[in-house]
Amino acid sequence: MTTTPPESRKHDITTSLSEIRQKVSAATAARGSGSGSGSGKGVTLVAVSKTKPASDLMCAYEAGQRHFGENIQELVDKAAELPTDINWHFIGSLQSNKCKTLCTIRNLYAVETIDSAKKADLINKAWDDEDGKKPLRVFVQINTSGEESKSGVQPDDALPLAKHIAEKCPKLRLQGLMTIGSPERDSDPGAENPDFTLLAKVKTTLDTAHNTDLDLSMGMSDDFEQAIRQGSTNVRVGSSIFGARSYPAKA
Ligand SMILES: *Cc1c(COP(=O)(O)O)cnc(C)c1O
Repeated sequence: MTTTPPESRKHDITTSLSEIRQKVSAATAARGSGSGSGSGKGVTLVAVSKTKPASDLMCAYEAGQRHFGENIQELVDKAAELPTDINWHFIGSLQSNKCKTLCTIRNLYAVETIDSAKKADLINKAWDDEDGKKPLRVFVQINTSGEESKSGVQPDDALPLAKHIAEKCPKLRLQGLMTIGSPERDSDPGAENPDFTLLAKVKTTLDTAHNTDLDLSMGMSDDFEQAIRQGSTNVRVGSSIFGARSYPAKA
């Protein structure tokens, strides 16, 4: 059962959410309607609620928030408990043995972390698109920083994986590309983040090859405004809305 949060908690989340929305709008307006990456498209704010109780999500929900980002186990639990018009984004590291479980969530909106043809196939197989269900949106996660510890495909492997999804996975729709920028790379505020530059470049390559206009999922609490300036159309913001996470998220 979703317990009712204290009024103060509700006030804090509503206030933070409203501040983040204003910043998202301002950054989106500032990049204008020129010909740059992301111009003309709106930006989806995904509220990253991992480690936070369902009651916190309800505070944001009541303030109109509908896109939420979660890792696997919490996503399964929270989706069962919370309103079915929530658009869930899976943003955790994707394990092959969890693909089927993920697909049982009927209001799953997007899987943002596809990093192999094998996992695309598993999700394609498990997703039930009957009863007029639309294809499931997927993002290919790209390791833009080259760090060993980061998940995602190498930039050069994005094109073959996108082709595989387009040709072999009829129940999936390639919605965009996703990266987690390295925090140490945006130490200089206002400077271009090389991770975001690279992701935008990969998008151009794929868009040209497939005549698409892919979304860019990049930007978190510390760098979402910069990401929007560099063309992001999907930002994933957690701690700036819900406060610092007090225990590490389960993968
Ligand atoms: C946790 C997480 C976020 C949110 O990070 P914050 O810094 O709290 O905004 C965004 N994207 C991914 C993939 C995450 O795992």
